[in-house]
Amino acid sequence: MNDKIIECKICNSKMKEYESNNPQPLLDSFEDRVCRDCNDYVTASRLFFSGLDIHLIKVISPIIVNIMAMASSLKESRRVFIEQYKEMKE
Ligand SMILES: [Zn+2]
Repeated sequence: MNDKIIECKICNSKMKEYESNNPQPLLDSFEDRVCRDCNDYVTASRLFFSGLDIHLIKVISPIIVNIMAMASSLKESRRVFIEQYKEMKE
């Protein structure tokens, strides 16, 4: 089992390599790996893309990836804020 720590290509969270997932078709490179949370969006996208034109998928995929990355960043900011707020109240 590969315990190497790698980074999710979409949300930058750390994970063990064996926990990572294939991000196609959202990301092109077969070197890229995504975390379990992002993989739920990858799976949903695959279902949504079913039957769609490949050119349309190539246009939509980067938009979805950018929205996911922005949303992950907002989620992380909120987590840090809540953590700091709790520390401040202690
Ligand atoms: Zn991720």
